[in-house]
Amino acid sequence: MRSWRRRRKWFKGKAKEKMATVLCVIDVQEKFSAAKFVVPEVVHQINLARKRKAGVLIVEYGNDPSYEEVYNALKGYKDWMVVKKDDDDGSMEIMHAMDKNPIYRGHKVRVCGVNACACVQATAIGLHDSGLFSKIEIAEAATNCTHGNSDNCVAGLLEKLK
Ligand SMILES: [Zn+2]
Repeated sequence: MRSWRRRRKWFKGKAKEKMATVLCVIDVQEKFSAAKFVVPEVVHQINLARKRKAGVLIVEYGNDPSYEEVYNALKGYKDWMVVKKDDDDGSMEIMHAMDKNPIYRGHKVRVCGVNACACVQATAIGLHDSGLFSKIEIAEAATNCTHGNSDNCVAGLLEKLK
């Protein structure tokens, strides 16, 4: 983490040039039962990102692919890539991808996917705590959880990001 702190100034300076919000789609994979319910909203978020010409990072837990609809929504768009992770928190993997590819670098990050109390939370807090971003947004309608009322899960996460 120390190397990221050192790099923060450079990272922020570069980010300001573009002022882009990067979309991070977390674990919208069949193996997570809550994921199928947000696929249409995730596709909507991808379409919005495409309109803004924003970078899109499709974050995947393990080797399984995301739902086909996710890749279909990105057809013909070049500013997206898959980021693989093998833990709940994908923030380091996301920051590495951003570091290597300027298009994915933004001063704001918009996060969606599953699960609000697990991977989305760990990743959003990891990004938040890096201090590299001016804002971590949660696309609430495109975020879900295995717990009964995902609205509460998302609300809890928003509270943690304050
Ligand atoms: Zn939850």
